[in-house]
Amino acid sequence: MEIGNLSVVEKPEDEFMKKNILLTSLDTVLNWARSNSLWPLSSGLACCSMEMMAAAAARFDLSRFGYEVFRPSPRQADLLIVAGTLTWKMAGPLKRLYEQMPEPKYVIAMGSCANSGGPFADSYSVVPGVDSILPVDVYIPGCPPRPEALIQGMLALKKKIQNPSLGREKL
Ligand code: SF4
Repeated sequence: MEIGNLSVVEKPEDEFMKKNILLTSLDTVLNWARSNSLWPLSSGLACCSMEMMAAAAARFDLSRFGYEVFRPSPRQADLLIVAGTLTWKMAGPLKRLYEQMPEPKYVIAMGSCANSGGPFADSYSVVPGVDSILPVDVYIPGCPPRPEALIQGMLALKKKIQNPSLGREKL
């Protein structure tokens, strides 16, 4: 190895260190771990939630990715999948559930209703997109989206968690 005009002889230990020690930041390791073990909250609002349940069952097997541990309590969950039509009456309780989840936490809007109100967008009683009340990380289109689409959305979220530079809008 050359440093300026000096040539430095590398010791065998240096070679060993180069091949066996991986340097990274703690954040990178934590984000890698988080992205591979998302714990979704067990909550469904309407028809889209049937597809969410199918995604977690044996045929589509969310557990392949480490995402199958649906939690009954917001305090144990780090992912809120808004699956279905969100009414204004339900908006308060859903926001409260979100606020009870510990940081870092993520939101997926699943289906047209969650994205924009869907077929009920003009209704007085339906929230025209969950991003009116919560910060959404990933939007999945469809009415309803198939379980494969939800899996694709969760893998997009995984990429986003591993690359925080992809950004996230907070309300
Ligand atoms: S997007 Fe379609 S399937 Fe999903 S909750 Fe709305 S109406 Fe039902």
